Amino acid sequence: MRVILLGPPGAGKGTQAGTVAAHLGVPHVATGDIFRENVGQGTELGTLAKQYMNQGQLVPDDVTIAMVLERMARPDCASGVVLDGFPRTTAQAEALDGALATQDQAIDRALLIDVSEQELVKRLSGRRVCRGCQRPYNLTEAPSKKDGICDECGGELEQRADDAPDKVKVRIQVYTAQTAPLVGYYENKGTLRRVNGEQPIELVARELVAALV
Ligand code: ADP
Ligand code: ADP
Ligand code: ZN
Repeated sequence: MRVILLGPPGAGKGTQAGTVAAHLGVPHVATGDIFRENVGQGTELGTLAKQYMNQGQLVPDDVTIAMVLERMARPDCASGVVLDGFPRTTAQAEALDGALATQDQAIDRALLIDVSEQELVKRLSGRRVCRGCQRPYNLTEAPSKKDGICDECGGELEQRADDAPDKVKVRIQVYTAQTAPLVGYYENKGTLRRVNGEQPIELVARELVAALV
């Protein structure tokens, strides 16, 4: 099964992706995580992506599409994938559908995690992310067991530079202008399911898994 997690920054895509992927037994591919890994390693892709990410803007479509299609061509994605943070533009969605169609495949579900803007701003101000495995935490809503340390891998938790309030504002605007049209795109295909993201993490997880069938 091939699944897309849609939703604004802070909706809970990263928090839920692991659960959905584990349920399906497929890999979780997060474009933001891949870009941040490249930034950390100082690769050419990372150097390019960083300029956009620091501004809260999207990395150009050609670079992003090539990166995702390369990742999806690896053997572990043969039976499916959970895509978190991709596609984010109509051009990305069309490129993805085009590439899948050549292999008689398609996106089976687009899961929209719905959260109000006020709640997004609150969540992102308290978000902390593991430097090692990139798992998201929240100072008040989803704290780690040990202060500043990842439960999963023992890595150090940090605040993302683009979670600063002025960057969050830009990212929400970018979502509204460039990504929100994808809701209609997947609605037209009949694959969209909406889940209320303003519920406890476990409840959102249960509704997302239920929306797969
Ligand atoms: P969020 O938590 O806001 O959903 P992500 O970790 O998914 O953020 O993405 C962080 C940044 O990485 C984005 O603001 C953007 O600069 C870049 N990025 C991630 N995915 C994409 C994409 N599909 N297209 C273009 N840029 C992307
Ligand atoms: P996204 O990947 O969509 O940008 P994240 O999964 O990183 O979002 O979640 C954003 C922030 O909100 C994190 O600090 C996370 O711990 C917190 N969060 C996620 N889901 C919920 C929820 N259902 N209720 C409260 N806080 C949540
Ligand atoms: Zn970790």
